[in-house]
Amino acid sequence: MNIAFLGAAQKVTGSKHLIETNGFKILLDCGLHQGRRSETNELNSAFPFNPSEIDAVILSHGHADHCGMLPLLVKSGFRGNIYASPATVDVAGYIMRDSAKIQEQDASYHNTHLRPGEDPISPLYSTEDVEQAVAHFVPVPYFLHSKEWTRLNEQVRFKLYDAGHILGSSIVLLEITEDGKTKTVAFTGDIGHKDTPLLRDPENIAEPVNILISECTYGNRVHKTLEEAKANLAKLITLAFEHKSKIIVPSFSLGRTQELIYILHQLTDSGTIPRLPIYIDSPLAANLGDVFIKHAEEYNTSTWKDFAKPGEPPLAFHNLEYTHSVEDSKRLNTLPGPFMVISASGMCEGGRVVHHIKNNITDEHAIIMFTGYQAEGTLGRKIIEGVSPVRIMGEEYPVLAHIVKFNEFSAHADQDQLLEYITNLHGLEKVFLVHTEASQATSFAPILKEKMPTVDIIVPKFQDSFDL
Ligand SMILES: [Zn+2]
Repeated sequence: MNIAFLGAAQKVTGSKHLIETNGFKILLDCGLHQGRRSETNELNSAFPFNPSEIDAVILSHGHADHCGMLPLLVKSGFRGNIYASPATVDVAGYIMRDSAKIQEQDASYHNTHLRPGEDPISPLYSTEDVEQAVAHFVPVPYFLHSKEWTRLNEQVRFKLYDAGHILGSSIVLLEITEDGKTKTVAFTGDIGHKDTPLLRDPENIAEPVNILISECTYGNRVHKTLEEAKANLAKLITLAFEHKSKIIVPSFSLGRTQELIYILHQLTDSGTIPRLPIYIDSPLAANLGDVFIKHAEEYNTSTWKDFAKPGEPPLAFHNLEYTHSVEDSKRLNTLPGPFMVISASGMCEGGRVVHHIKNNITDEHAIIMFTGYQAEGTLGRKIIEGVSPVRIMGEEYPVLAHIVKFNEFSAHADQDQLLEYITNLHGLEKVFLVHTEASQATSFAPILKEKMPTVDIIVPKFQDSFDL
């Protein structure tokens, strides 16, 4: 067997790992590289393999950095099945359609504002290409529900565990037989934070795992507890309300947005925060609300029952409004504070949030609140690192707004939880740390090694491949 790391290797985006066994090729995830266009364009425009030679894809979850290249894969000749949990099939469909739309808008904006020497750009794929990719999906329920393995061929079968990261997120366990010997390979996708509102905790794998491909986004961080984070958020909102501030929250449309709505609902109902108007300015988040309704079986029922009442839409309360049209979104520009607007994209690399940041970043009373991981090269990363001025849509803006960051609402496990999850596995021979920046992985690897001295801990580089 051979494993090649073709994305999210010493990086947090572009997740793509290729397993080859007896000539059969399985691609784990097919994600988009995100970040500065000059760096990601080339990485996203072609594959380091021939798509028509891939036999099957298994998708861990529906975030764009895990599924966003599937339309291009199919457009480039892939003819096999794309296996994913039923909720991931729905989520990934929405995310890819949104990605196509953003790329089309981005290309059209770029091409009408060309600077001397700049070339026009074209989207990687169209919405029609997305529908072609969606037709390749084969839903595979979590093993928890189905109690059945899915067979890819005589030698390879797999099952999906709940990763507790976003709705539908999966940990993939593959069982591969070569020359009469059977080995198991687990791929975590992204591992969720324990006690995340709405979702179940990441499921432990019952079988021995010989080879683990694990995410390591926060390998060097320990998050504060959710209770502490909620108290800090309540303080921030109360102050913002008193000062009539606008709070801009860049957020992934799926995952963080729904968790924040849930937490804000709790804080509002308990009277901990004032009734601040909250706008969810993301048509995608509104659509994904429907996916939540459809896949109620994937909630953590003990927390969900707080709010989901028969006949009432989940993730709604009366000072919360979803804005659908562009006009409604633009109306927020002239609306006086205090209010909060939660809008995509999470790393400020496109979507309506870029306009909200542009309109408020020079206002010293405004607050820009980050709740998720900001990859290197993104506008979000520059803002949290204190870069000023920052370039937004071709213009420079000094950063005068107050910048705050809440890692604890992250949908990723922190160092303690990663250590607990990995050291609980049995039968481990090798661990590959992916979906991480080099600095996080090089801090985490020795800590893990100390706990598991007989296990090989490897931090692969982009395009590294290993015969196992
Ligand atoms: Zn993710």
